Amino acid sequence: MSDLREEKNRRALARLQNALPAIFPAPVLTHALARRWTPAMPRRAVDSYWGTHPLRADRLARALAARSGAPPGWTWQLGSGRTDGLPASLRIPPTPYRERAYARGPGSCCLCGQPVYRLGWHLDLWDQGPNRNAAWHAACVAAWVFWTGPSDYVRVLKRLQSRRCAETGARLWRAAEVDHRVPLFRVWREHRDLAWPALLAFWGVPNLRVINPDVHAAKCAAEADSRRRPCVPV
Ligand SMILES: [Zn+2]
Repeated sequence: MSDLREEKNRRALARLQNALPAIFPAPVLTHALARRWTPAMPRRAVDSYWGTHPLRADRLARALAARSGAPPGWTWQLGSGRTDGLPASLRIPPTPYRERAYARGPGSCCLCGQPVYRLGWHLDLWDQGPNRNAAWHAACVAAWVFWTGPSDYVRVLKRLQSRRCAETGARLWRAAEVDHRVPLFRVWREHRDLAWPALLAFWGVPNLRVINPDVHAAKCAAEADSRRRPCVPV
């Protein structure tokens, strides 16, 4: 297995070096070379970098969105999620630039609204202008995956809390769960008029924490009193 990996990595590295542009983000290259399986293409190296650094992607996506701000007249609304681009559920982060009415068109990221450059990068390192075939930053894709499925990142979030329960300070159990400090139903109910993209922080690290299952169950029971449906795990 190890021989096979070495051989595959050797070939992948040759392909990567061949395809690598003269200018390439150094941290991404360092990350790529340290992978168990070497990515064979620069774009895959970029995607792998952001996928492995979801907290960084979360911060960057929100910072880029802050540069765009909300389009004039936009408010957070729910819709079918299919034809109008409106989120179908209050559990989906609001993203004005994914909505048909506010889309900025080719070369702009539909999550943050900022220009997308070569390799899905957020800076024009190559001085080539926006990539008109791109609709997402690589970082924004990673942020979106994190925001919409934070329970998949329990290990990263546990590390952030030094493996202590955010509620009680006790050592986190193996079955510890990711929780939104402010539940998303309350974000919709009480904070939906907050300016975008400040709203996005409710899906990101500022509103995420890991707690032990007993604490989570007690919190869900309390929340059940303030809304009809039961607490769903994130
Ligand atoms: Zn973006």
